[in-house]
Amino acid sequence: MISKEGCSVYPIMVPTHYSLRTFNFYLIEEAGSLSLIDAGVDSEECWGAFIRMMSENGFTLHDLTRIIITHSHQDHVGLINRISSVREIPVYAHKESIHRLKRDKEFLSLRVAFFQQLYQEMGCGTSGERQVQKLKEDVRENEKNKIRGDILPLNDFNTVAGLQVIETPGHSPDHLVFFHEQRKWLFIGDHLISHMSSNALVEPDRTGRRIMTLIQYVDSLKKCSSLDIEIAFSGHGELIRNHKELVMTKLSRIHKRADMILLLVASGISTAAELAVSYFKELYQREFSLVMSEIIGYLDYLEMQNKIQKELKDEIWHYYIYKADGV
Ligand SMILES: [Zn+2]
Repeated sequence: MISKEGCSVYPIMVPTHYSLRTFNFYLIEEAGSLSLIDAGVDSEECWGAFIRMMSENGFTLHDLTRIIITHSHQDHVGLINRISSVREIPVYAHKESIHRLKRDKEFLSLRVAFFQQLYQEMGCGTSGERQVQKLKEDVRENEKNKIRGDILPLNDFNTVAGLQVIETPGHSPDHLVFFHEQRKWLFIGDHLISHMSSNALVEPDRTGRRIMTLIQYVDSLKKCSSLDIEIAFSGHGELIRNHKELVMTKLSRIHKRADMILLLVASGISTAAELAVSYFKELYQREFSLVMSEIIGYLDYLEMQNKIQKELKDEIWHYYIYKADGV
């Protein structure tokens, strides 16, 4: 437990064998209100850890005032339905989380079509088609994870449970962090993970257009870097006590990776799929969607900086070093 000025945070950290190390979510108690920030995965381990943390500190589910979500990924919303099946509790999330959490059919089929076209245009061939099949199966499979009950929208400048809401798109388009200025606390979700990079996952917006996720992520890192923070409560791994330094490290890693991908483009490798194979080797097959997200994110980033340009040939994008017109 971490306490300051009459407010206590109870971190619930559930180990996992994935590289994420732990699924973290947080109970926060202040002036008779008890909020849950994020809700782990839908597993017996997470549920057990949550109930244990509640009972060891004298709480029951009836004391829970609200659930607040940093973003709509499965490993942050897993226990919401279990909790709300015992008791209806208000759930707060970014407005862009709502159609994702409600598993809106129209949006999900638009999302599958988006990835189908994206992987094809990025030259992924059969690997892309396999991933699209998987996405279609996931849509059917995940229907059961639809969040029941009302979700109340949050955005920049809102306050919830005494915390300032800050939009931090990048890792996901609906990512929020929650800041307490006096206590210097930031509930940071997957915006920053101390032991690994928070992938800026490629996603469509509600109209099916590609969101420039890495560009957004860099902006969000910069947006939070000026905040005075003692503890950042991350969604995975350790609590972060060197927020500013970690942001600088992540930004410099992004710049280095961008330079390396630029060198590959300069060497004549022109499609995103070929760049992914060249940069990530066998991970291209094993972690296809993550790897493609990375490469596409960096290509957008380099294109925005006018370092590269692209051309559509036979329905596939080819990337080249930027040449200003007439030069
Ligand atoms: Zn996430």
